[in-house]
Amino acid sequence: MSPSETDTPLPLAAVRTVAGLRAMVAKWRRAGETIGLVPTMGALHRGHMSLMTLAQTEVDRVVVSIFVNPTQFGPDEDLDKYPRQERSDADKLAAANVDLLFAPQVTEMYPDGFSTTVSVEGVSEGMCGGKRQGHFDGVSTVVSKLFMQCLPDVAVFGEKDYQQLQVIKRFARDLDFPIRIIGGPTEREEDGLALSSRNAYLSDEQRGIASHLPQILKGTALAIASGHVSPDLALQQGITALNAAGFDDVEYLELRDVETLVPLVSLDRPGRLLVAVHLGKTRLIDNVAVNLA
Ligand code: AMP
Repeated sequence: MSPSETDTPLPLAAVRTVAGLRAMVAKWRRAGETIGLVPTMGALHRGHMSLMTLAQTEVDRVVVSIFVNPTQFGPDEDLDKYPRQERSDADKLAAANVDLLFAPQVTEMYPDGFSTTVSVEGVSEGMCGGKRQGHFDGVSTVVSKLFMQCLPDVAVFGEKDYQQLQVIKRFARDLDFPIRIIGGPTEREEDGLALSSRNAYLSDEQRGIASHLPQILKGTALAIASGHVSPDLALQQGITALNAAGFDDVEYLELRDVETLVPLVSLDRPGRLLVAVHLGKTRLIDNVAVNLA
């Protein structure tokens, strides 16, 4: 490890190579310390920071990766304009006492000849997996690599990306990664909108419309949990409410099993309500628990 691996020194220990990451982790291991990993794509906000705080309660040392992973973006998605602000991210990580930033270049993660994909069936199908072709293959492959590169004891991901969290839990179990996967609760704005790097793309008018998303999601979850209407009817009413609020497209609003993510037609077990909507070119996702009354 050496801060000099970055062009300008950053305010915390930072490495760009797998070798540098492994050297630092090995040093901690020799001292008997436990390690947590929080993978991110940067543009850090309070939601990301809450995952680091959570990791710090579980382990001695926390590594944060910042890597805008090209393989999880579709051809028409926002890879090029995805916000990149390493310097201010590093300041936030330093202030939060994160132990190491791992910020590899694309060529470090995908050298010439790279040919392997980790693909998860079942939980990755439908919802974000249906509309964003190849998205979860990209996520599963890059997170597998980060796991092998860092070999942490725990890895923390946000419930904000609920389907992603279940996909990662699934392959970690299937591939026997000796890593405990922890989900952290979604951090929200005062009006309930889930924090997201993509909220910055919203105009004032779109931001006003966006504030209806958590309200409608919660209302639909309560309607389903009350048992007074069928889940199907509650979902239809939810979609109608989203359209009426002014969202340009409702990609999906679905009730799924909390772990396997199979669709639920009745609330006969703990469920999760998941939504994706579009405002102009911006895509917003959110989800809430739906518990038996
Ligand atoms: P990203 O940089 O968007 O890939 O997100 C990195 C991690 O932060 C993922 O595990 C996300 O689920 C998590 N995350 C994103 N937004 C939030 C939020 N509002 N609250 C908690 N975690 C979040």
